[in-house]
Amino acid sequence: MANNPQPSQPPSKPRASIEINTDLAPLAPTDGFLNACEAYGLSFPAEEGERYGLFLAHMLDVNTRMNLTGITDPEEAWLKHVFDALTIVPVLADLPDRARVIDIGSGGGVPGLVLAIALPHLRFTLLDATAKKCSYLEQLAAWMRLDNVSVECGRAETLGQDRGVKTGDGREGAHRGAYDAVTARAVGALNVLLELTTPFAKAGGLCVYVKGAKADEELAQAKAALHALHCAHAGTVETPTGRLVVVEKLRDTPRAYPRRDGEPKRDPIR
Ligand code: SAH
Repeated sequence: MANNPQPSQPPSKPRASIEINTDLAPLAPTDGFLNACEAYGLSFPAEEGERYGLFLAHMLDVNTRMNLTGITDPEEAWLKHVFDALTIVPVLADLPDRARVIDIGSGGGVPGLVLAIALPHLRFTLLDATAKKCSYLEQLAAWMRLDNVSVECGRAETLGQDRGVKTGDGREGAHRGAYDAVTARAVGALNVLLELTTPFAKAGGLCVYVKGAKADEELAQAKAALHALHCAHAGTVETPTGRLVVVEKLRDTPRAYPRRDGEPKRDPIR
């Protein structure tokens, strides 16, 4: 290799990647998790529980090498990651086969990857801005043979403006206005989050945000954002681990939104 001519331009920075450990055994579901599922009306075969356990084993393992979550106790992780994500299942229950869902700021894969295991008839896109996290998500989805999952690495502000390319009978590859449902957890306050996420939904689509005690306060501060983004609060679902704020997108997002990278957070719609 030493004799190879030097490239005329410096090589582009290698895409950050992370190896997953393919020897890992799934974590066993805890009683606390199984009881919470039963009380919430969620039932699934033992193999599915094993798949959640495999997801969790990988998430906690990769978390020792990069920062995915502060919750490392397995008992707590079953509830705050897997169960918390599964509380969304009833909200997505009416989506037809092959409907598309995007999880914005998926990070370690909550809720998107967990929901992809629970709802194999739906197609999931997991979006994150951090290349290393995307690498982990991609590898884990491939290793778990989750063929209903695709991963996009980029910022929501950019992809939310992506109208795809024109083809003979429409547009292909668009992210904007392309999804039947959008999910997000721990990506920002609602007034910011609405601008980052609702552009991805189709008109009539649902946006589901995993929130906590501050849900009402955040909603009150997001009135202008809801209005500007042509959305309405459809309801809030109390769950054992938090609150799901459900928003309906009523009409197409105005062209100006989302604004450029960083702007939604720097200067939230008011
Ligand atoms: N949803 C996961 C991760 C939350 S951390 C969970 O609940 O555990 C927030 C994640 O959102 C990070 O991984 C970060 O990289 C990503 N993120 C933040 N702002 C973003 C943006 N504008 N576009 C895309 N991803 C973003």
